[in-house]
Amino acid sequence: MMKIIQGKGVSSGIALGRVRMYIRDEINVMRINIDNPDAEYERYNAARLEAMAQLNALYKNALTEMGENNAMIFGVHCMMLEDPDYNNSVEGIIRRQSVNAEYAVAATADNFARMFAVMEDDYLRERASDVRDISRRVLKCLMHKQVQQMDANDSCVICAQDLAPSETVQFDKKKVLAFCTARGSSTSHTAILARTLGIPAVTGIGDELAELRDGDAIIVDGGTGRLYINPDELTYREMLHKLECAKHRTAYLSTLRGHDNITQDGHRVNLYANVSSLEDVAIALDNDCGGIGLFRSEFLYLDRGEAPTEEQQFLIYRQILERMEGKRVVIRTLDIGADKQYGCFTLAKEENPALGLRGIRFCLANPMLFKTQLRALFRASAYGWLAIMFPMIISVEEIRRIKEIITDVKDELRREHLPFREDVELGVMIETPAAVMISDLLAKEVDFFSVGSNDLTQYTLAVDRQNPEVEQYSDPRHVALLRMIRITCENAHKVGAWVGICGEVGADEELTEAFLAMGVDELSVTPTEILPLREKIRGLDLSRREKILSAIGVAW
Ligand code: PEP
Ligand code: MG
Repeated sequence: MMKIIQGKGVSSGIALGRVRMYIRDEINVMRINIDNPDAEYERYNAARLEAMAQLNALYKNALTEMGENNAMIFGVHCMMLEDPDYNNSVEGIIRRQSVNAEYAVAATADNFARMFAVMEDDYLRERASDVRDISRRVLKCLMHKQVQQMDANDSCVICAQDLAPSETVQFDKKKVLAFCTARGSSTSHTAILARTLGIPAVTGIGDELAELRDGDAIIVDGGTGRLYINPDELTYREMLHKLECAKHRTAYLSTLRGHDNITQDGHRVNLYANVSSLEDVAIALDNDCGGIGLFRSEFLYLDRGEAPTEEQQFLIYRQILERMEGKRVVIRTLDIGADKQYGCFTLAKEENPALGLRGIRFCLANPMLFKTQLRALFRASAYGWLAIMFPMIISVEEIRRIKEIITDVKDELRREHLPFREDVELGVMIETPAAVMISDLLAKEVDFFSVGSNDLTQYTLAVDRQNPEVEQYSDPRHVALLRMIRITCENAHKVGAWVGICGEVGADEELTEAFLAMGVDELSVTPTEILPLREKIRGLDLSRREKILSAIGVAW
């Protein structure tokens, strides 16, 4: 029998496939006494070899997709599993205590991680998280837990309670037909990633998600937010037809490649792309972006046991700039905390993380980490048109502090004879009501603003962007927000700064006319939204600007 489940469509498109439940793996290790230490040691060794084979495969994959620097970590992990000290420790615990391999691995991981954690040398200290990582992998092999791996022919619809950014990035995107989550919202990073990739996604499904089983036939309609489980013949045909229409629309939109983003009355605007990885840059170019308006650099820190080094970051930033061939690339500095929790940092638990040590606050509290990123960015600036922007700003003092650090970075690079550009544009993300209210002062300090409407909505309307229970209150079209954007534009333009919108509302076609009438200079959206917006812009006429503004309550 067909079952229909209603969720919230956050990335449009139709996917027909089979359910794959993603269950966050928790490893609970028990201590069990065993009689045959030889056999137990053999069991450990087999799991260790399996883990090494996985790491080798990951190394090869990463090498082709992300280059030597990013692949290296898997090589290092493989070597660690050959380390005699580590292996002797596991063997010793199994034999001396007559305990199971799982317990011996977990105990070894704890002992080694503790030992590394107190070392003087930075490099060795960082090995603590690696040793935990490799031990987890061996434990999974011992427990035959098949996690996060998808077979070669395994295209599927990923269904999960919730997906953290670190979980979404690890899926092989070519095999994911759609994402469905019980929780999550339209500005969650799963939704953003899905839109970037042009994959349908439905969130906020709630308890009904638990009724789905691996292998169930499913149709996901990301436009209406509906899931059809075991669809009947009629629905199947209807959805196939919808899929066909969507293909025609895509074909039509692609004819707009190479055309200007210009209104009927000759007003031009930049249409840029929001991206999180090098792969996304290719998608952005494919969709004819005029530049990158938001590179979420924190994604480089995901999925790894330690923060990326200056060299690793430099190579990635440089590649992005080179691929963009002189088009503007706005890179946002590390924005962690709140909804973005990352593997390589252990963030202190906070009562209200959205109001906590996040964004620029985290970077200013960790100046070495921040400096490493800025050095990498300035070094990369020699290879293209770079702009850097800072998240979660609330004061002029923060900008001044950032500029002091930038001055130090530039002095260092000069001393080291490393090339960089002096004219890198600096910008502030307008994500807090405070930033709007002092936008006249901030504008004097920077070259541009970028409105982060996802957070600006959260902080202005007091609505947690992560909480589906209050999503009905999260209205980025709220007149308060529209007025804030107008104020921001006016204050920026008075001193010649430009203004972009990089939050999700930038793609809201109902508001495109209003944004242009307010003077927004750039809209940065998920790549697949660029061509539809171009179509929209080319049909607009802004000659009656005041009328447009008063119709939405932002005239004064
Ligand atoms: C925003 O807040 O609008 C934004 C673009 O940043 P993020 O969604 O990454 O917080
Ligand atoms: Mg934000």
